[in-house]
Order: sequence, then C-alpha cells, then structure tokens
Amino acid sequence: MSAALIDGKSFAAGLRARVAALVQPFHAQTGRTPGLAVVLVGEDPASAVYVRAKGKATREAGMESIEHKLPDTTSQEELLALVDKLNADPTVDGILVQLPLPGHLDAEEVLLRIDPGKDVDGFHPVNAGRLATGLPGFVPCTPLGCLMLLEDLHGDLSGMDAVVVGRSNIVGKPMAALLTAKSCTVTVAHSRTRNLPHYLKHADIVVAAVGRANFVKGDWIKPGATVIDVGINRVDGRLVGDVDFDSAASVAGAITPVPGGVGPMTIACLLRNTLVAAYRHEEVPLDE
Ligand code: NDP
Repeated sequence: MSAALIDGKSFAAGLRARVAALVQPFHAQTGRTPGLAVVLVGEDPASAVYVRAKGKATREAGMESIEHKLPDTTSQEELLALVDKLNADPTVDGILVQLPLPGHLDAEEVLLRIDPGKDVDGFHPVNAGRLATGLPGFVPCTPLGCLMLLEDLHGDLSGMDAVVVGRSNIVGKPMAALLTAKSCTVTVAHSRTRNLPHYLKHADIVVAAVGRANFVKGDWIKPGATVIDVGINRVDGRLVGDVDFDSAASVAGAITPVPGGVGPMTIACLLRNTLVAAYRHEEVPLDE
C-alpha cells in the first residue's frame, strides 16, 4: 500500500467537537438548545441502529434529541400529521425521517412535507434546487462530509478532474453539484456509462457511491489520485466499500478506508446541519 489513509473518524470527531463548542454560545444568546427530531417507523434493525447512533451523537454534542418511534402499522396520514407537528414546533430545528419507510408508506410525499428550513438531511427538492443553483440551503450529509475530507486534504479543489460514480439523489448528484461549485471538472458515471475505466484514468478525484462491493479496481485509477469510498457493503460479515481497497491503495495517493472513512462524517455533518438550522431559525450569526 502506498496511499495515505484519509482518517474520516478523526476528522469527524473534530467536527463534532466544533459543533458541540457552538451549542453553548447558542444557548447563551437564545435561552434554548438546538433540537433534532428523528422519526423511525417500524422495526428495521439497521434503521434502529442508525437512529440510536444519531440520538447518542446529538446528545453528546449537547443538543436535544427528540425521538419518535412509530409502529409498522402507522398510516400515511398519521406520519404526515407528525411531520406537520414537528414543522410547527419551535423547539425542533431539524427533522429527519429515517429511510427506508415500510412499503405501504409514500416516502416522497413525507419528505416533501418536511419544512425545507428543517430538512437537515437535505433531501427536499427545494434544498436540492438551492444546491444546484448555488443558494444557501441544506446539503445531504454524506456528500458534504466527502467534500470536507477533500478540502482538508487538498485545500483548493479548483481545476481538478473529478469522477463521481453513482447518480443517486442522496449521494452522487449532490456530490457532483458540490464539486462543480468548487470548480472541479466533474464527470458523473452510472450504470449506463460505457467504459468507466476510461474516465477514471483521468480523474484526480474519484468518489465511488455505487452500492457494489469492491467494484472500482486499482488498475482503473490514475496513479496518485484521491479516492473517496462512500460504499458500505456487508460481505461475509465484514464491512467493505465500493472500491477494491487493496488494489486501489497501491495506486492512489490517498484513500478513505471502510469503515472509518466517509461513514463517521455522515453523522457529524448531520449535527453540523442541525446546529446551522438552529442558528438560522433564531437569526443568530454563526461564526463557523
Ligand atoms: P443507489 O443504489 O441509490 O445508487 C447507486 C448508483 O450507482 C446509481 O446511480 C447506479 O446507476 C450506479 N451504478 C450501479 N451499478 C453501476 C455500475 N456497474 N457502474 C457504474 N455505476 C453503477 O445508492 P446510494 O447512492 O444510496 O449509495 C451508494 C453506496 O453508498 C451504497 O453502498 C450505500 O450503502 C453507501 N452509502 C453510504 C453512506 C455513508 O454514510 N457512508 C450514506 C449513503 C449511502 P443508475 O443510476 O444508472 O442505476
């Protein structure tokens, strides 16, 4: 292995500490604590783990975690009514509805119902549009975390060639928008891309968000490139990324490990978005 390891775990710990340090001055100025409401419907075990982790991290940052656990039998109307209540609650700064929802519920309608000013996941089309047009809004946590790691490593990204593999609304598309805003030359690859290695060969930055274990191979990557692996796949009880780590690490200049790379950044950015939402709601300037 020749690549430097990008330590997302330690960067995320620093970000969480910076967020926590800004909770106290917010309280001093407004008399209240930033609040994140997390809604979990049903019994999906992976979702329950994520929700527990988010609640714990929120409390550790000194913010209020408001958890709503609803049964599998919850109707669309009941869920929408809860979102309406949280939208109207001045103690709630951020609202997150854990996905996936049980099959009988319409996730799109639920996400559309969330007040864009409380949409700390950044999934509402208003926030996607704001990102695309360069207006302030909320950026999805995972690509925001990837961008932070890239800027920490490189500083100015201007002029770099970036390939984002994957075009989902929660990772690939916002990642491409963020890198475009930072003046990278961005290629978005997807399942219909012909000859992916051809594009990767020229990329200074590769972001892999494919959902296929060990998919991106080392011999596709330009020597010295920075590789950000968003993938989380369980193979034989072990977590692996979307990049074939061993072959990629022998070619890349820097690479995120899985676990311990992008993963910890997602929750840290959720806390950061919640803090930003709280400051915006109270119209208090935030000196990040
Ligand atoms: P999606 O399944 O929504 O999107 C996958 C994307 O990969 C699609 O755009 C798809 O193309 C593309 N793709 C599939 N096969 C190929 C292929 N053979 N060649 C090129 N592109 C291909 O996944 P997500 O974006 O939600 O997640 C991606 C990965 O990131 C997953 O492993 C997920 O677990 C992980 N993840 C990790 C997070 C974290 O906190 N670290 C958070 C969110 C996700 P097309 O559009 O044509 O179908």
